[in-house]
Amino acid sequence: MIPIDGQTRLLGILGWPVEHTLSPAMHNSAFAALGLNWAYLPLPVPPEQLEAALWGLAALGFRGANVTVPHKEAVMQHLGETTAAAQAIGAVNTIVVDEDGRMMGDNTDCFGFLASLHEAGFDPRGRRVLVLGAGGAARAVVYALAGSGARVVVLNRTLASAAALVLYLSFSVPAGSLSARPLTSDILAEEAAQADLLVNATTVGMWPDYDSSLWPDTLPFPPSLMACDLVYRPRETKLLHQARQAGAQTIEGVEMLVHQGVLAFEMWTGQQPPLEVMRSACLRALGGE
Ligand code: NAP
Repeated sequence: MIPIDGQTRLLGILGWPVEHTLSPAMHNSAFAALGLNWAYLPLPVPPEQLEAALWGLAALGFRGANVTVPHKEAVMQHLGETTAAAQAIGAVNTIVVDEDGRMMGDNTDCFGFLASLHEAGFDPRGRRVLVLGAGGAARAVVYALAGSGARVVVLNRTLASAAALVLYLSFSVPAGSLSARPLTSDILAEEAAQADLLVNATTVGMWPDYDSSLWPDTLPFPPSLMACDLVYRPRETKLLHQARQAGAQTIEGVEMLVHQGVLAFEMWTGQQPPLEVMRSACLRALGGE
């Protein structure tokens, strides 16, 4: 560990709550590995204190921060500048603070997701992808996929939310690349038979609900359909287990988390991030969950 002193540069994660975040373990391990005098703190911020907390970041000389639930959308109105990706998704998960205290908001969730696909050897261009869910995580993933040339079908329990997501993103991705359908077993089976990748962007399967999956037990999982689950507690969700048992390739949610962290680390420090150190720290922090 690098001792904290008057030279230490500060980063943190703004969320409510932040007790279970893996980001401090991931970034502090990376600083230790590279011998950088930086420290990353969990920063619990209730919604009504968000603006004050942002002023505080600049006043205290923080170099940046991550933003998590429930602040990812609300934070945008308080930032001087946001990237095109953050604007298109309507959410910020990474803030960079410059020497003058000006804050720039970006969204590394979408690029982290793409990096996890790339690492698994999946190129979205010209491929058909099924995304389950229409919440905040789905918005980042659908934007990333359609922006990379995939044809994306969004299936959601509440069809109106899927349709709203498609309409929202249709202004920033290639025309005709998105469609929305209700999430039923029949439609899932029909769409999965034509898809190359299935992404679970719902909370289904997340601890303590680890016995649940949106993939019906009675439906054989196609071995040629790659499965990615954004849920990372547990590491192998029931959906990923079903896919792996059928011989399909799987991508765990922790990969998107690590890759968004890698991108943020590089933006803040300008240093080459130690990917394996960061991944190991996350896996250690997830422990036996
Ligand atoms: P969110 O905004 O609350 O959206 C939740 C989504 O799950 C909605 O589409 C909701 O459908 C659907 N859903 C919930 N319960 C369901 C059920 N029983 N059956 C069918 N659909 C159900 O959540 P979020 O922020 O997008 O997060 C989604 C997941 O992604 C979480 O597990 C989160 O931890 C994970 N995530 C992972 C990463 C990563 O780096 N790996 C990053 C971000 C998020 P309705 O619209 O019908 O309610």
